Amino acid sequence: MQLENYVRDIQGFPKEGILFKDITPLLNDPEARHKCLEILVESLKGQKIDKVIGAESRGFFFGMLLADRLNAGFVPVRKPKKLPFDTISASYDLEYGTDALEIHVDAIKKGERVLIHDDVLATGGTAKAMETLVKELGGEIIQFNFLMELSFLNGREKIKDNTIFAAITY
Ligand code: IMP
Repeated sequence: MQLENYVRDIQGFPKEGILFKDITPLLNDPEARHKCLEILVESLKGQKIDKVIGAESRGFFFGMLLADRLNAGFVPVRKPKKLPFDTISASYDLEYGTDALEIHVDAIKKGERVLIHDDVLATGGTAKAMETLVKELGGEIIQFNFLMELSFLNGREKIKDNTIFAAITY
């Protein structure tokens, strides 16, 4: 089974000129989803993980599945003003302007072993902001993993001091 067959290209979403990789067929197929989860879990080679951090919103799907499989906590990282408790924030550059991500201040304890997950590694801005948040709380980043990496956008440069794994690379 080729996981690529469960990712659909959508031309012009969310705006003109963008080729969007749609993972909903992968979510919708239990066998493909299970295989993808196995690949992500195997990439960790049995390393202990205390917390899985998932980025809003598509990082929540496999982030939660991973946390359950790894017997780890799950921590949502969200857009500003979405989280109810005290937060810290990290901003990152977009094509035009900036955006920010937030995490609860008590979500990670110093020295905890963290897996950072998102669906897509594109320019790396989102991943870099998550790295900043985890480090600020004193977490130890064991791995970044993604369902797919758009390698032509060079996102891994922004998080190059880390172990990075992607189930699919374009
Ligand atoms: P980056 O910050 O440029 O690396 O973009 C990664 C973020 O944008 C992730 O949170 C993704 O969910 C989202 N993203 C970027 N490109 C795509 C895509 O083609 N399909 C789905 N999500 C994408």
